Amino acid sequence: MNTEKCDILIIGSGIAGLSFALEVADVAKIVVATKKGRADSATNYAQGGIAAAIGDDDSIASHIEDTIKTGDGFCREDVVNLVATEGPLKIRRLIEWGAAFSEELTGKLSLGREGGHTHHRIVHKADHTGKEVEKALLDQVRNHPNIELIEDAICVDLITDRHTSPSTRPEYKTCYGGYVFNPQTKKIDLIEAKITLMASGGMGRIWLNTTNPMIATGDGVAMSWRAGARIANLEFMQFHPTVLYDPLKAGSQSFLITEALRGFGGILRNQRGERFMEKIHPMAELAPRDVVARAIDNERKRWGIDHVWLDISHQSADEIRNRFPTIYQRLLEDHEIDMTVSPIPVVPAAHYQCGGVMTDTWGRTTICNLYAAGEVAYTGLHGANRLASNSLLEAVVFASRAAESARERLKELSGTNNDAIPPWDDSGTYDPEEWVLIAHDLGEIQKLMEDYVGIVRSDLRLRRAKRRISLITGEIEDYWRRTVVSPELVELRNIAQVARLVVRYALLRKESRGLHYTTDYPQKDTFYEKRDTVFQ
Ligand SMILES: Cc1cc2nc3c(=O)[nH]c(=O)nc-3n(C[C@H](O)[C@H](O)[C@H](O)COP(=O)(O)OP(=O)(O)OC[C@H]3O[C@@H](n4cnc5c(N)ncnc54)[C@H](O)[C@@H]3O)c2cc1C
Repeated sequence: MNTEKCDILIIGSGIAGLSFALEVADVAKIVVATKKGRADSATNYAQGGIAAAIGDDDSIASHIEDTIKTGDGFCREDVVNLVATEGPLKIRRLIEWGAAFSEELTGKLSLGREGGHTHHRIVHKADHTGKEVEKALLDQVRNHPNIELIEDAICVDLITDRHTSPSTRPEYKTCYGGYVFNPQTKKIDLIEAKITLMASGGMGRIWLNTTNPMIATGDGVAMSWRAGARIANLEFMQFHPTVLYDPLKAGSQSFLITEALRGFGGILRNQRGERFMEKIHPMAELAPRDVVARAIDNERKRWGIDHVWLDISHQSADEIRNRFPTIYQRLLEDHEIDMTVSPIPVVPAAHYQCGGVMTDTWGRTTICNLYAAGEVAYTGLHGANRLASNSLLEAVVFASRAAESARERLKELSGTNNDAIPPWDDSGTYDPEEWVLIAHDLGEIQKLMEDYVGIVRSDLRLRRAKRRISLITGEIEDYWRRTVVSPELVELRNIAQVARLVVRYALLRKESRGLHYTTDYPQKDTFYEKRDTVFQ
C-alpha cells in the first residue's frame, strides 16, 4: 500500500472538482482522484448551458423568482439569492479560464431559453456546453504545477475518526482524506489530506433509464453517509422529460434531447399527433420539468404507448442544424432520424439529484474538513425541483465559495499531522471472480428503481422496493466483507446503499411536492412545508 500526503484531496474531475482546484491551487498541494478518464463526468455531457441573468431585459430578481417557483416553495432563499447574484461573475470566470461560449453576430453572448425560465438566460456553446467547459478546465488544470490528477482512481471510502484509534479522536467528526484504489497495484492507497472535497457528481445510474454517464453511481452520497454526514432530500430526483426512446439501449446512457429544443419551439405530441402540454400548463412545453415528465408519463399510460413525439420540423432546417449540431448529427447517423423533417420519439429518464450531502453556504458538510460541491451536494438551491441549467451554475458558485473557505481553513490546519490513520484492511478477503453476481444485482436494483421508485410513486410500490433492495443490499454487504475490492464492487455497493436510502426518504414524505409525486398523497401537505428530509 502507498501513502500520499497532500493539502487537499478532491474526489471527482467534473466542473465542481476542477473549478475548486483552480480557485485554491495557488496556496495548496492538490490531488484530484477521478474514477475513470479525466473527462468522464456528467459535466462533459451537459448540452443546454448555464443559467445567468445577463440579458438586457433580464434581472437577478427574475432569475431568483423563476428558481423559487420551480423549486415549489422549497428552495433556501438565501442560497438562491447568492447563486443568482454570483452567476454573471462566474460566467466571466469560465470565459477567463478559456470557455468559448456561442455569441450573436453583435459579439454579445447568445442566450437560450429553457423550461421554467421567463427570460432568455442560458449561456451555451451550441448544444455541447459541458464539453467546452470541461475542456477549458482540464487545460488549466494540466498546466498547474500544484495539481496532480490521477485517473482510474476510485475513492472507496472517506477516512474519518472511525478509522483512527479512540485516543486520537477529536471532539467533532473529522475527515482526513480517502482510501483510493490504485489502478497499477490494484491495492487501496491511503491519501491523507487536511481538507477533502467531495465532487463526485450524481446517482442517475441507480435507475435503468438515465441520461447520466456510467460514473454517476452515487458514490459521494454513499461514502459521506457511511462517514456520518447529514444527507438531505434524496426523494427529489429529477426525471428529464425528453431523452431519445431507444428500446435497444435500456440500461446504458440514454441520449438527451435538450430542453433548449423546446425553448426553440419544439412541440410535444401524442401518437395521434395531438399537442397535449397546452391543456396542462400555461407555459405548455416550457413548463417545469416535473410537470412535463408527469404529463408524458400520463400520455404513455393513457394510450398504452412507449413514447411520445417531440416535433421541431416546423422551424427552419438551417437554424436547427446550426443551433443543435450534435443532436442533429447523432440522430441522423445513429438512428436515421432527420429532425428537420421528422418528429423525435422521446421518453423521460432519471437525470438530476436535487438532494445530497448537506452543506452550508461555504460548501462545508457536517463533518469537519469535508466539503461538498456540485451535484453530490445539497445546498438548498433547487428545493423540490431544479430549474434547468442551474446545476452547472450551482457547481461553479459553490466550488468557488468552498475554495475561499478552504483557504482560511488551511491556515488554521497548518502544522497538524495525523499518524494514527491505519492502512486499508483487506485481511480475510479473496478474489472469487463471480462477476455474474455483480451484473445480476445491478440489473435487479435498476429495474426495481425504474418500476417502483420512478416519476409516479405509491406506498405499495415503495414498500415493495424497500423489501427487495434491503435483501440485495444485505447480500452485497456479505459479499463485500469476503471479497477483494474492485471498482465494480465498490460501485455496486454504493448503488445498493443509495437506492435503499432513496426509497427510505421517499417513504417518509407523505405528500406530493415538486419531483416527489405519490398517488397515496397527491396534494401538498403544510406539515412538510419547508421541512427537509434529513438523515445522518
Ligand atoms: C446529459 C446531461 C445533460 C445535462 N445538461 C445540463 C445543462 O445543460 N445545464 C446544467 O446546468 N446541467 C446539466 N446537466 C447536469 C450537470 O451536467 C451536472 O449536474 C454537473 O455537471 C455535475 O457536475 P459535478 O462536477 O458535480 O459532477 P460530474 O461532472 O458528474 O463529475 C463527477 C466526477 O466525480 C468522479 N467520481 C465519481 N465517483 C468517484 C469516486 N468514487 N472516486 C473518484 N472519482 C469519482 C467522476 O468520475 C467525475 O469525474 C446535465 C447532465 C446530463 C447527464
